[in-house]
Amino acid sequence: MKNRDSSKPTLMPIDNALSEMLQQCDALLERESISVLDALNRITAEAIFAKLQVPPKNNSAMDGFAFHVNQELPADTKLIIQGQALAGNPFNEEVKAGHCVRITTGAILPPGTNTVMMQENVQINENNIVLNQASKAGNSVRLAGEDIQLGQQVIASGEKLTPAHMALLASIGEPTVWVIRRPKVAIVVTGDELVPPGKELENGQIYESNRFALQGLLQQLNVEIRHYGIVEDDPDKIADVLLDASENADLILSCGGVSVGDADYVKQVLAKIGQINFWKVAIKPGKPFAFGTINNASFCGLPGNPVSSYVTFQKLVTPLLHKLMGRTPLAVHTINATCAEPIYKRAGRADFQRGIAYQDEHGEYWVKPNGSQGSGIMSSIANANCYILLEKEQTNLPKGAKTKIELF
Ligand code: AMP
Ligand code: MG
Repeated sequence: MKNRDSSKPTLMPIDNALSEMLQQCDALLERESISVLDALNRITAEAIFAKLQVPPKNNSAMDGFAFHVNQELPADTKLIIQGQALAGNPFNEEVKAGHCVRITTGAILPPGTNTVMMQENVQINENNIVLNQASKAGNSVRLAGEDIQLGQQVIASGEKLTPAHMALLASIGEPTVWVIRRPKVAIVVTGDELVPPGKELENGQIYESNRFALQGLLQQLNVEIRHYGIVEDDPDKIADVLLDASENADLILSCGGVSVGDADYVKQVLAKIGQINFWKVAIKPGKPFAFGTINNASFCGLPGNPVSSYVTFQKLVTPLLHKLMGRTPLAVHTINATCAEPIYKRAGRADFQRGIAYQDEHGEYWVKPNGSQGSGIMSSIANANCYILLEKEQTNLPKGAKTKIELF
């Protein structure tokens, strides 16, 4: 690992920063077999193939009557009722010519039948039925294997499991699934001014809030979270806590103290107890972002400003965690929009402005910045609905200009 001179950092373009981070960290190899009931949002450790076909047998899509049709049976055909087939209770006799079997949805088609007519379309008499309309061969039948074929791949490796995947796994008879173990992520916040909510504020203190955003963001990613509390602006104390965290975490997130202020000790501590890969990224908000390692743990030093820590988490830490979790990389879904107001931007850093986007009557997207873009203005994210994506060298955009947005 290269150790750059951290005293004279250059602003690293965000794409370079991200690819360096992804290169430095390997996907977790440990896997575990868990109940499908607990598998929501977990990442598959292997591709999953069907060991049986779904549905297993041809069966009825309707409540009605099953019979045999060569090509078509005309309306007014009379068929004698030979018996009954229920879901889970099949009719096993051969159905004779000119006969039918009463059948319920999901019941296996009895031998000798290939077609079902829903009961609403027949006249039912004591021991026979009369078709109200013509019936084509194969109507209202679900064919064996029409959902999933034997041996077919049903879920790829590296896929995040959804509720639909959970049902799919159960439908092929799998009670358990192999997933990548959840990464352990440590959160360390630094700052003498920070007080947890619930305590009285003294002069100069503020409530610690970034941990709450990080907790929510990490919960959405379904990782194991370990909190290391609020650490004073003291290099020795920060070093102790970071070293402790490095014993128990795959990734350490610190927050605050990573800039150039007098009480910003995180980089200096990182240089001493671990390695700095880079700090300072050409991103706004979020320039003071440090990346490195401490023992076997990856380390991301997030800026203390609330919006900066939020944006750098989403743009840099999230893809890193996806890699750690073995998740297939995701493309950012962007949309073209027109600026409803001018957008102010200086060249030099990729900017993720918080915006309000809306669609006009033609379905076209318009966007405007959501108030002040200061890196401490958390309400700019809380009530925005998109990022306005402005590339590094972009400058001011007039009203009516086109831009890209990313909806939350
Ligand atoms: P720093 O990066 O430590 O210089 O902090 C930059 C700004 O963010 C300062 O105004 C801090 O008070 C504020 N800040 C730092 N950490 C947090 C936090 N965990 N919660 C809320 N505000 C914070
Ligand atoms: Mg601080």
